[in-house]
Amino acid sequence: MSQLRAAAAAGGLRRSGGRAVPAARRSRKGASPRGGTQAPPPTPHVFSDPAEIGALRRNLLAWYDRCKRDLPWRTLAATETDADRRAYAVWVSEIMLQQTQVATVIDYYNRWMQKWPTLQALAQASLEEVNELWAGLGYYSRGKRLQEAAKKVVSELAGRMPRTAEDLQKLLPGVGRYTAGAIASISYGQATGVVDGNVIRVLCRLRCIGADSSSPAVIDQLWDMANALVDRSRPGDFNQALMELGATVCVPKAPLCRECPVKQHCRAQRRVEKELAFASQKLFGKPTPVPDVEDCGVGGCPLCPPAMEPWDSSLGVTNFPRKAAKKQPRVARTATCVLERRGCHGAPEYLIVQRPSSGLLAGLWEFPSLPLDQDLQEEKQREALADHLRAWTGWPVVAGGLRFVGEVVHIFSHIHQTYVVYSLPLDGDVTLDPALTPSRWVTEEEFHASAVSTAMKKVLKAREKQRGEESSPGKGSKRKRATKPQGANSTRPGTQLSLRAFLRPPTSP
Ligand code: SF4
Repeated sequence: MSQLRAAAAAGGLRRSGGRAVPAARRSRKGASPRGGTQAPPPTPHVFSDPAEIGALRRNLLAWYDRCKRDLPWRTLAATETDADRRAYAVWVSEIMLQQTQVATVIDYYNRWMQKWPTLQALAQASLEEVNELWAGLGYYSRGKRLQEAAKKVVSELAGRMPRTAEDLQKLLPGVGRYTAGAIASISYGQATGVVDGNVIRVLCRLRCIGADSSSPAVIDQLWDMANALVDRSRPGDFNQALMELGATVCVPKAPLCRECPVKQHCRAQRRVEKELAFASQKLFGKPTPVPDVEDCGVGGCPLCPPAMEPWDSSLGVTNFPRKAAKKQPRVARTATCVLERRGCHGAPEYLIVQRPSSGLLAGLWEFPSLPLDQDLQEEKQREALADHLRAWTGWPVVAGGLRFVGEVVHIFSHIHQTYVVYSLPLDGDVTLDPALTPSRWVTEEEFHASAVSTAMKKVLKAREKQRGEESSPGKGSKRKRATKPQGANSTRPGTQLSLRAFLRPPTSP
């Protein structure tokens, strides 16, 4: 299966090779989305010869049988005899693989299937449990939606998974066209194609499709092609083979064309070979005809590269696919405070709070945080955070009591997030009003077992690193210490400050 998966969200966005692209508006074959008649795509961009389609299927499947990776969801799909359990096993893998690498997913998948081997088991889990297991995998709404859909299958569909791609997409929340096609072809043997980021790349290269690969016209064409190519007797294997080819051979930057099992069907590769032959003949001074490296010959072809961006010989087959310029991620800054106290045997404990149940990182736990305006000065950041903590805890927290730890950058899919990290050591037991945001004290071990994001793990790591540097100031790096206590009660390195200490008036020298 592919490293990156098409999210294929129903009616929304589909992932393509690491970014979201609009789902194509579907139309009946031959009719444009707006109701007009659509001309068939120029021949060079389609597979029209049945003999060639047959040969491509055979070559690809033979390669897949020889070279496919051994993956836990493939084993389950091949050995599970119960159709509902088989479909569930494939479904979980497909959701986890969206935007996440195979190597990362394997461990999560195994733990998930061990904990919730059936839809019924998942339907009974709490969202907290789902978030805890999903912690670190990213795109947290995936786990939540998977569980919501499992509940729906159990409560509304009598525990029976829909049996066709159409019904899967129609009836299950979070299951889009790609996921539905993958489940139906792999679990039920339905002869339906799939289009994800890897398939987009392979098909665009096979047929020299150079128009924006996220455009509805191209996506529509690729779905038609995937449905036409899929092997009728082994659709699940064929789809996985196509994705596997994109993940391991026809990779984005340096495709292994010489090892490719379908190179004889690849027009991008043919174009490269023609150019090479032309260049070598020219080198030896032989009279040569102009190579046939023009576009498909149809003026204004909607599938050829745009006239402004013609074929670039230096890129070879990686001329395809082409994508519209990526939208820059939004830049955001957030002040975060690691509130800590000494627990059993002096080991640190941390206060974490739960995020709202909707929006980014819904329901996950984090250190108390506050979004900041972009241009806020450092001093104002502290004050804003102190105000926030004061309102939240009811304690007279002062800005000078917050110790600067450093900045932690985390890239979400659409946000370039910088956490400005502070710490505030506390003494004694602190109980927060339960009517406020849910909160709890956790040990380091409990923190890592909780439903916390990777970004928060980075924040804690920064704080622990600082503590390590404070306890052995002469050891290791010569880096300037990030901590610069600003309060009136600043103290020597390694000493825990108490909240009361911050609240004491400054002492005279
Ligand atoms: Fe991809 Fe190269 Fe194979 Fe063409 S020949 S499909 S570009 S790996």
